[in-house]
Amino acid sequence: MSKLHSIARAASDDLRSRVHFCPNTGQIWLHEHRMLLVHAEAQALLRKELIDSLGLDRARGLLTRMGYASGVRDAELARTRSQDCSDTEAFMTGPQLHTLEGIVQVTPVRLELDRMAGRFYGEFLWENSWEGQWHRHHYGQHSEPVCWTQIGYACGYASAFMGRPILFKEVECVGMGHGNCRIIGKPVEEWEDAAGHLRYFTPESIADQLIDLQTQVVQLRSTIGEKEKLPADMIGISPGFKRAFDLLRQGAASQITVLLLGETGVGKELFARALHAMGTRRDKPFIAVNCAAIPAELVESELFGVERGAYTGAQAARAGRFERADGGTLFLDEIGDLPLPAQSKLLRVLQDGELERVGDHRVRRVDVRMVAATNADLHRLVKEGRFRSDLYYRLNPFQIQIPPLRERKEDISFLAKRFLEKHCAVHGKKLRGFTDKAKRALLTYQWPGNIRELQNMIERGVILAPSGTRIEVSHLFSCAGAEEQAPEFGLGLDGNLDLNTWDTGKELCEAVFNGVRTLDQVEAMLIETAVDKAHGNLSAASRMLGLTRPQLAYRLKRLQEAIPAGTAVEPASAGQDEALPWR
Ligand SMILES: [Zn+2]
Repeated sequence: MSKLHSIARAASDDLRSRVHFCPNTGQIWLHEHRMLLVHAEAQALLRKELIDSLGLDRARGLLTRMGYASGVRDAELARTRSQDCSDTEAFMTGPQLHTLEGIVQVTPVRLELDRMAGRFYGEFLWENSWEGQWHRHHYGQHSEPVCWTQIGYACGYASAFMGRPILFKEVECVGMGHGNCRIIGKPVEEWEDAAGHLRYFTPESIADQLIDLQTQVVQLRSTIGEKEKLPADMIGISPGFKRAFDLLRQGAASQITVLLLGETGVGKELFARALHAMGTRRDKPFIAVNCAAIPAELVESELFGVERGAYTGAQAARAGRFERADGGTLFLDEIGDLPLPAQSKLLRVLQDGELERVGDHRVRRVDVRMVAATNADLHRLVKEGRFRSDLYYRLNPFQIQIPPLRERKEDISFLAKRFLEKHCAVHGKKLRGFTDKAKRALLTYQWPGNIRELQNMIERGVILAPSGTRIEVSHLFSCAGAEEQAPEFGLGLDGNLDLNTWDTGKELCEAVFNGVRTLDQVEAMLIETAVDKAHGNLSAASRMLGLTRPQLAYRLKRLQEAIPAGTAVEPASAGQDEALPWR
């Protein structure tokens, strides 16, 4: 050992003398190689950006190969010294260079090598590992070794020096919480699990991967598209939703003009798309227009088209949305915002299937099925003279009221699961679902922005929750107070169940169906109340519940095992996961 150390010290002195700073040429030389003096922190930031943009695995590969390349260069310097000294002495050049270059302090623990016989075993202690310390600084403790550039260097150096593939592995690493890093190197074939490490040394073809990814995106898009065509977001078991959907199905079978009513964000366009997809026009265009989003002076040309020169700026003739929707469906959202002149033109298309482009007198025929939507009170607009009564009566016969999300509590868990899957696919995330608290918050919140708000909130959650975890309340609600807007359904201030807030058995049942409470929790409530009322007398409590005493004792034991003492009855999440569509 001490011999190794003295070799190392001598080598180090010699190497220091080979570093030359040439300020007049802007160069630093180590023997024959131009070197750079870079800021460790800047280098660490580059490393972090590689990881964040390429992912751990790809970044690891790049960094390992970068280190390998450095190791190979330094081995050239070592070989020039091997004529004058022993293999072991010459080999120590690498560890000393690694130290000199400011990467890591390397101390040999055991080194046995024979270049002629190809025999190699090396064990080194790494102190002050640049890479490990910065990795821990940026990412906290890691489950695997993280000094990828450095291990790449060791492999590159030893392999070039020995003239055969030598694989180094970190057996301890500061990135994993060890005090220092420790590495062991042997010829590749002496490692049983070499393959898993060697893949980081093979350059990947980014072009091939991009093509692969592109193919995946196209496939993913097409499946999303298919789902959109069939009403995939049209999920629900609530009576309100079912009523609306049944009406929609009936409407789809005919060509009747449909008026969709409902608050902002309830999914009116989705209903319109579903109507289109279920009807005979499904292979023809579906065109959606938001009347409120188009300036009043442009509405007519947008809807009915424009002839060249009709007004300043109309440099070319252009078909309107009606012509583009020919044979298919036109969805007019916020129809209450349509200006009166456009309303009369619209009425003519609905009655006669005829229109004239702005600035043109030619009559064109179109075959368009119209679906309109509004969250305004059209009847009131008619009274105020802002909506034509004949158009109103034309739209009136087939109305579908889409219920707000707060009246579709039963559907929230299904919708949440659907949006979670969708946004995980879009953002390339893997998440394990929602925490129990997040589920409860989703169920109790009042959803003024309806399904759109739910979808946006879940997308936000998908973006904020770290991969592999569950979405928490804080990932969903931007301000901490938001979840408290929701009444804590059936929960006392201390978070424990309070039987008195359940006025009727029906509410209790609803709470179970909605996932606010699990069956186990309801059972626990009954048992605890009975035991309380019987002042702890289990025989009396069991009589109240219609159970035998051993039956009650068994249930109590099961409850105590499931629930940590002092927390009363927190959700038994496993059971809930099976009962509900949550992931
Ligand atoms: Zn390490």
